[in-house]
Amino acid sequence: MEETVELPSRLAILPFWNKVLLPGAVIRIRCTSPSSVKLVEHELWQKEKKGLIGVLPVKDSEGAAVGSLLSSGIGSDSWEQGRKGEPNATGGFHKQDAKKPRELTHWHSRGVAARALHLSREVEKPSGRVTYIVVLEGLSRFNVQELSARGKYYVANINGLDLSSAELEQAEQDPDFISLSRQFKATAMELISLLEQSIRVAEKITQKVEGQLSKSQREFLLKQQMRAIKEELGDNDDCEDDVAAVERKMQNAGMPPNIWKLAQRELRRLKKMQPQQPGYNSSCVYLELLADLPWRKVSEEPELDLKAAKVSLDRDHYGLLKVKQRIIEYLAVRKLKPDAQGPVLCFVGPPGVGKTSLASSIASALSKKFIRISLGGVKDEADIRGHRRTYIGSMPGRLIDGLKRVAVRNPVMLLDEIDKTGSDVRGDPASALLEVLDPEQNKTFNDHYLNVPFDLSKVTFVATANRVQPIPPPLLDRMEVIELLGYTPEEKLKIALKHLIPRVLEQHGLSSQFLQIPEGIVKLIIQRYTREAGVRNLERNLAALARAAAVKVAEKDFMVHLGKDNHPKTSLMNTRLVDTAEVEMEVIPLSVDSQGISNSFSSASVMIIDEAMLEKVLGPPRFDEKETADRVATPGIVVGLVWTTFGGDVQFIEATAMAGKGDLHLTGQLGDVIKESAHIALTWVRARAADLNLSTAGDHIGLLEKQDIHIHFPAGAVPKDGPSAGITLVTALVSLFSQRKVRADTAMTGEMTLKGLVLPVGGIKDKVLAANRYGIKRVILPERNSKDLAEVPSAILAGMEMLLVKRIEDVLEHAFEGASPSKPTSKL
Ligand code: ADP
Repeated sequence: MEETVELPSRLAILPFWNKVLLPGAVIRIRCTSPSSVKLVEHELWQKEKKGLIGVLPVKDSEGAAVGSLLSSGIGSDSWEQGRKGEPNATGGFHKQDAKKPRELTHWHSRGVAARALHLSREVEKPSGRVTYIVVLEGLSRFNVQELSARGKYYVANINGLDLSSAELEQAEQDPDFISLSRQFKATAMELISLLEQSIRVAEKITQKVEGQLSKSQREFLLKQQMRAIKEELGDNDDCEDDVAAVERKMQNAGMPPNIWKLAQRELRRLKKMQPQQPGYNSSCVYLELLADLPWRKVSEEPELDLKAAKVSLDRDHYGLLKVKQRIIEYLAVRKLKPDAQGPVLCFVGPPGVGKTSLASSIASALSKKFIRISLGGVKDEADIRGHRRTYIGSMPGRLIDGLKRVAVRNPVMLLDEIDKTGSDVRGDPASALLEVLDPEQNKTFNDHYLNVPFDLSKVTFVATANRVQPIPPPLLDRMEVIELLGYTPEEKLKIALKHLIPRVLEQHGLSSQFLQIPEGIVKLIIQRYTREAGVRNLERNLAALARAAAVKVAEKDFMVHLGKDNHPKTSLMNTRLVDTAEVEMEVIPLSVDSQGISNSFSSASVMIIDEAMLEKVLGPPRFDEKETADRVATPGIVVGLVWTTFGGDVQFIEATAMAGKGDLHLTGQLGDVIKESAHIALTWVRARAADLNLSTAGDHIGLLEKQDIHIHFPAGAVPKDGPSAGITLVTALVSLFSQRKVRADTAMTGEMTLKGLVLPVGGIKDKVLAANRYGIKRVILPERNSKDLAEVPSAILAGMEMLLVKRIEDVLEHAFEGASPSKPTSKL
C-alpha cells in the first residue's frame, strides 16, 4: 500500500490527455508545450525542495470540439512510458492560447498528486526551445474543488481523498471489510487457477498444431524439392499431380451447371485432403468418373441411308430375311422420326444365331458407337444402379460404366442376356432396367454411385435373350421381341462358306491361297463336331483348322511360294500382328500330334483340308448318326425332344425295373412338373395294363406291382422341368413292360393328361430343328401344335415325317416298330 502523504490545499495542475496516473505508478513524460514547460519550471525545476503537482485527466468525450476547448496549452506534453520516440499524443494543441476561462465539465474532477522522481532539462538546438523530461510518481488521490489559471498553467483547490492511516487501520478492522477481502482473495485465486489451466491447454494445443504444421510443412517442402529435382532431370512425367489432372479433365468434360457445381464442391474437398487420407482415393476416382462421362459428347449421326444399311445387313448375315426386314423397318422409323420412342428391339434365340452381330450391324447402320453390357447372372440391383459411395469398394452400375467406356452419350447399347437377370435379397435388377428402358424416366437415370441424374434418352437400347419366358412381363412390355431360329445344316453350310471361313482366314492372317476348307469338310464338321442351333462352335472348329494352318505357315519357309504369288511374307506377318480379333479358345484333344499336323500339309501347294486332317486337328468325331440307333437298342429307352436355353435338343429317357414294392424312382435333376408327369405316366400305364397287352406278357404283369421302376433323364447335371415329356415317359414305360424296342428314327414331345389326351407344348420349331440335327426322320407332335410347323423351314419339313397325335394311343401306334402293343379296342 502506498505511503500516506500530506496534501497541500492548492496544487499546480498538469493535464493528462487520455491518460491517468494511479497512486503508486511511475510515468515518464516529456513536456514540450509552453504551459507545461512553465509549470515544470515554476513548480519543480526552480524550487529547491521539489513540491507536488496534481495530474488531472482531461475528458475525451466530444472529439474535436473538446479538443479545441482543451487546446489552450494543456495536456500538450508528449509522454513517454519507458518508450522513446512515441508520437506526441496531443501534438497540435500547444500553440494555442490558455488564457480564456475553461469549463470544468471537460476535466475530470479527480486527479492524483505526484512527485517528481527525476527531472532533466533540454534545450533544442537551433530554436532554443526548452523541454523537460519528468519522471513522476503518483502518490495520493484528490478531488478538485476549483480550477483557476496561474499564468500559463492551471492551479486547483483540492482536498485529499485517501484515508488517513488511523482511518485505514480502523477500516481494516471492520469485519465486513475482512470478509469481503477474504472473498475477494478466494475468487481471485479461483480465477487465477482457471486462467492457469486454460493457459496450459492453450499451450498444449499450440504445441500440437505447431508439430503438425511443421510435419506438413516439411512434407510440402520435400515434395517441392522432389518436383524441382525431377524438373531438373527432365523427368516431369508425373509432375502434375492427380488433383491437377482431374481438374483439367473436368474442365473439358462439358458438365451441365448443376453437376459442375457438385464436382467443384467435391474438388474443393479433395484439395483439402492429404493423399494418405482415407477418402482421398475414392474422391479422386469419383471425380474422374464425373469428368470421363460423356455429358455432352455425341457421335455424329449422318443421314441414315436405308439402302446401304440393307446392303451391309445382307453382307454380314446370311438368311434371316424376316429379321432383317424388321430391322430395316425399325431403321426407317428412326430415319423419319429420329427421336421416336419406339419399343426396344429384343432378339430372342439360342446362342450363336447372330443376335449380337445383328445389334452391332444396327449400330454401324446408324453410324453410332456400339457397347455391349452383359447382364447374364446379374442378381444385384447395384450391378445396374451402382453402389452408394458410402460402401467400401463402391462402383458405378454397368450402364454408367459402359457409357464411360464408350465415351459418347448416343451409342447403341446392347443389353445382352436380359433374360438371365434374377432377383434376390439384393434387390430386383429388372425393376432398375424398367427405369432404364422407359423413355419417360431414363432422362434422369439415377446411378447410386454417381448420385446425380444422367440422361440416357439418347442411348439406343437393343436387348438379347435366349428365352422369352424368364423376362419379367413389365420389361417384356417395353420390348419388341424378334425371334431367331436355329439354323438348318444347309443354312449353316452356307453361313460357313460365305461368312465364317473368310472371316476366320482373315483373323488368322491367311487367305484361300494358303488354306482351303472344302464344302464336304464343312458338312462333316457340322454333322460330326457340332450339334448346336447356332454357328458358334462351327466357327470355333473352323478357327482351330486355321490356327493349325497358321502354325504350319509360321514354321515352314513359305517365302518361295509367297514370292511367286506376290504375297510377300512381311505382309502376311503384318496382317497377323495387327489382327486384334478375339481368339476363341478351343481344346485340342491330347492325342493330336502337332508334328503330324504340320507334316500332313503340303508346303508346296495350297493346304486343302481333308478328312484325315480334320480328325488330326479336331480329334475324333464327337457325334455320329448311329448314336440314336445305338442308344434305343434296348426296350425302355425313348427319344424325347426338349427345349433348353441353347435351343431345342434331343433327350433320351431311360426306364428300368427291379424287384421292389412298386415305387417310382426318378433321377436327373428334375423339377416338380416333370416328376408329376412321370407319376401320371405310370398311373396311366398301370390303369391300361390290360389294354396294352401288358397282362398277357406273362411275368411282366408282376413288374407293375412287385417291382420298383426307375426312370432316368441322362445329362444329370442339367436341371430339367416342364410337362412336355409326358408322352415320352408313357412310351418308355410301355416299351419297358412290353419289352419292345421303340423306333430309333422317331422322337416325340407332348404333354399328356391322366385320361390319355395329348396336349400341345412350346418350342416346336426348335425341337424339330434339333431332331433334324440328330438325323431323326419322324417326329411325333400334339395335333394342336400343327400351326407351329408353319414356322419350321420347309426344307427341313420336306426331309422329315411329322406325326400329329390327339391321344397317347396314337403315339404308341407311331412309336413302335410294327404295330402298337395296345389292342385295337384300347382306343377310348
Ligand atoms: P449370339 O449373340 O446370338 O450368341 P453372335 O452374334 O455372337 O451370336 O454370333 C456368333 C457368330 O456367328 C458371329 O461371328 C456371327 O457373325 C456368326 N453368325 C451368326 N449368324 C450368322 C448369319 N446368319 N450370317 C453370318 N454370320 C452369322
